[in-house]
Amino acid sequence: MFNILLRFIVLLSLAVLGYMLGNQYLGSPAGLITALITLGLPLVNSYVNLAKLQKYIIAGNSENIPSVSGKWEDIFFRLQRLARGMRQKVRQIEVQHERFIQALQASPNGIVMLDDRDQIEWCNAIAESYFGINYKRDVLQKINYLIRKPEFVTYLMQRNFNEPLLLEQMGPAANLTLMLQVFPFAENRSLLFSQDITDLRKTEAMRRDFVANVSHEMRTPLTVMTGFLETVLTLDLDPDQRTRYLKMMQIQAQRMQSLVEDLLTLANLEANILVPLMQPIDMPSVVALLKHDAEALSHGDHQIEFAVDQEHDILGNQKELLSAFSNLLSNAVHYTPQGRKIYVAWQVDKNLQGNFSVRDTGNGIASEHLPRLTERFYRIDRSRSRETGGTGLGLAIVKHIANRHQARLQIESTLGKGSTFLLQFPSERVVAI
Ligand code: ADP
Repeated sequence: MFNILLRFIVLLSLAVLGYMLGNQYLGSPAGLITALITLGLPLVNSYVNLAKLQKYIIAGNSENIPSVSGKWEDIFFRLQRLARGMRQKVRQIEVQHERFIQALQASPNGIVMLDDRDQIEWCNAIAESYFGINYKRDVLQKINYLIRKPEFVTYLMQRNFNEPLLLEQMGPAANLTLMLQVFPFAENRSLLFSQDITDLRKTEAMRRDFVANVSHEMRTPLTVMTGFLETVLTLDLDPDQRTRYLKMMQIQAQRMQSLVEDLLTLANLEANILVPLMQPIDMPSVVALLKHDAEALSHGDHQIEFAVDQEHDILGNQKELLSAFSNLLSNAVHYTPQGRKIYVAWQVDKNLQGNFSVRDTGNGIASEHLPRLTERFYRIDRSRSRETGGTGLGLAIVKHIANRHQARLQIESTLGKGSTFLLQFPSERVVAI
């Protein structure tokens, strides 16, 4: 302010001096003209520079400073610095905003931002697919016009968002179960969060089924045993009858024992605690052991043939693999009628994959059962399975053991002709002896 006043005083003094000197040496109008020129020149200069400033601002290119001098040069440079600073800040905010959007897009959950009227302000791609929304098309649309499920409309209307809401049959194929929750934030805005819990629900259902199945499997032999016990306790039986009842009770106790053993094996396999998995396994002696057990189980009712590659072994866990192989073989014995043949083979193919197969000539399995055979407690013929002492867990155990050894379990079967169960091991698990 002082600076401007000083400049004004200097200018005024110069004009007065010009006026006096002009009058003194050149006559009366020359003084006035000199004074006017002295005062007018800075005005013209200011006007010209103002016009340049206006043009500079309108052009919007802060880097192109016009040619100016003195104070004006300083003004233009300061303006340029200000514009650069602002541009940098805007860029920083833009980058932050972009990262924020990228983070929300990377979220595995659906996110919809709603304004104070429940209109869509923004949503990520997952939310678009969950709710069939198209952000570009539906921006500022009310969310309850797009998610029309009555339970959601009520949830939104009641505005009690303490608990999440479950919506079934959602997503592009109407096969998802979503958990939704609204989280209010600043200025009556809210965030609609959605999570796909389809698998979680399936797992819960499977767990429930499993507990129900186990209880059922346990209850049957227990009921039978309780009945026998009552008979033995209440009736006056002769020693032979008593022994017969005790033997029947023993069979039921053995059934429960097998069930508990299989359940424990499955639990250990699922908890992944049966390690290590890279011991070299002597296949000829494993097959010899299988032969001994299978012949004992068959009581000479079947012809069982064995073919063994004597030059290759498997890297794995002996106990687990023995359990898998003998499960397949005991199934073949149990489900193949008397007098028919069973073929067991351990062979390494040209790709160095190891194939352990059990082929029976039993009644075969209808194709609709094949995909479900490895499910826990899945049986085609429940009573036949019980007769043979089966728990319904054998193939589930085989599948787990196969997975732990990166092996594939392939099942082929033709009704009336028989079935082949093949465990195919990757070449990394096959070693030459
Ligand atoms: P289980 O203890 O009942 O034998 P598994 O899990 O070993 O249970 O087998 C599941 C079902 O698959 C069996 O109940 C049976 O119906 C069928 N199955 C398994 N192996 C054979 C086979 N070799 N031939 C015909 N059916 C079979």
